[in-house]
Amino acid sequence: MTFRMTEEQQLAVDGLRRFLDNEIEPKVREYVDEGRFIPKPQMKEFLTALSEFGLIRAPFPEEYGGLGLDWSTHLRLFEEVVYSSVDLAVPILINGGGAMALLRASEELKNRYLPGLLTGELIISAGISEPNVGSDVASIQTRARKDGDHYVINGEKTWISNGEYSDVLICTARTDDGPGGLTQFVVDREEHGYEVRGIPKIAMNSQSTSQIFLNDVRVPASNMLGGEGEGLRRNLKGFERARIHMAAWGYGLARRALDESIKYSQQRTQHGKPIAGHQLIAEKIATMATEVDAARLLALRAAELIDAGVRCDKECSMAKWYGTELAARAGRNAVQIHGGNGVTREFMVERLAREGIIAPIPDGTTEIQKLIIARSLTGISALR
Ligand SMILES: Cc1cc2nc3c(=O)[nH]c(=O)nc-3n(C[C@H](O)[C@H](O)[C@H](O)COP(=O)(O)OP(=O)(O)OC[C@H]3O[C@@H](n4cnc5c(N)ncnc54)[C@H](O)[C@@H]3O)c2cc1C
Repeated sequence: MTFRMTEEQQLAVDGLRRFLDNEIEPKVREYVDEGRFIPKPQMKEFLTALSEFGLIRAPFPEEYGGLGLDWSTHLRLFEEVVYSSVDLAVPILINGGGAMALLRASEELKNRYLPGLLTGELIISAGISEPNVGSDVASIQTRARKDGDHYVINGEKTWISNGEYSDVLICTARTDDGPGGLTQFVVDREEHGYEVRGIPKIAMNSQSTSQIFLNDVRVPASNMLGGEGEGLRRNLKGFERARIHMAAWGYGLARRALDESIKYSQQRTQHGKPIAGHQLIAEKIATMATEVDAARLLALRAAELIDAGVRCDKECSMAKWYGTELAARAGRNAVQIHGGNGVTREFMVERLAREGIIAPIPDGTTEIQKLIIARSLTGISALR
């Protein structure tokens, strides 16, 4: 495992950082500060521009427009987007996850969707969660009924990232009442139709989280991903990659909270000296910095195992738990370091604290990550 970036990675990260600072963050910030939703064409423009720097595309095969790079490189790039503009990080994460699921689809589906997803010209959603189904993915209620050479899907999905932007949805539905009866389908919004309604949240309201309603949606059987009953296994596999992204979401936000705190603590004077010179503030800064590095190392280890094709659900869960809880903790500590200023909209840490609170929930909560880790160590599952 390499702890330092290679020369190529450093160049890629430096170039991306300059682009984010100069071209992306000021534009995204306008939307976020004014509480405006980034419209779909603008979101696609952002994603397409970032794909030029390797976002989404990095770990995909070149034949579909990918760059054939490793997951560690992609994580390094993704961290910079989170640090700059977390509202763009979620669509990148979800497009990458959706494209990864499609890598094992038919050639027809791959050729139709993969190139557009990797450049951000198409946007995808992953529909797993439902009003009565969160952590317990196996209990999905949305139904897909076979009807000749089609399936008819009925159900409601909720908390779906990218929903309002989505051109295509990977919908997990129940094809059988048995415990393994879940199946994934590719549903094209224009061709097959589904309705979307946005959900307002504590933060990150400039990008889409939504409900999706599927009412008698007819999709051809050829739009099934894998075979009938493979949906749960495919989703669990997808969670591994999503969780290292979520880890990077966490330590990317925490790194920003750290940098804002360093700056503020050097400038703000109380009791005759910069607050950075007070030991209790120094301790907070030192802890945050060490935890950001620890979180990144956990995620890079998991990324390396994914690249090596080694089973790493435990390592992905460790990275996800630690990195995302760090985001919530670092956001709160950054506000504390800023004192009263920390709770005003004038200072960025107010926003980071709200964004950080979200991180431990998607793609399996902290509690679920801990159960996965313990199951892997003891061989005994507390989940079912
Ligand atoms: C911003 C955001 C984006 C999201 N994007 C998507 C998306 O794109 N697609 C998608 O399908 N879903 C998405 N989700 C949904 C997300 O995956 C779920 O919110 C998550 O899995 C938790 O489910 P839940 O909210 O229903 O909570 P619940 O499962 O109801 O859990 C509530 C609480 O109980 C705890 N709990 C549950 N079961 C156990 C247990 N066995 N042991 C101990 N504690 C337990 C949980 O940890 C949590 O603290 C998103 C969520 C958010 C907030």
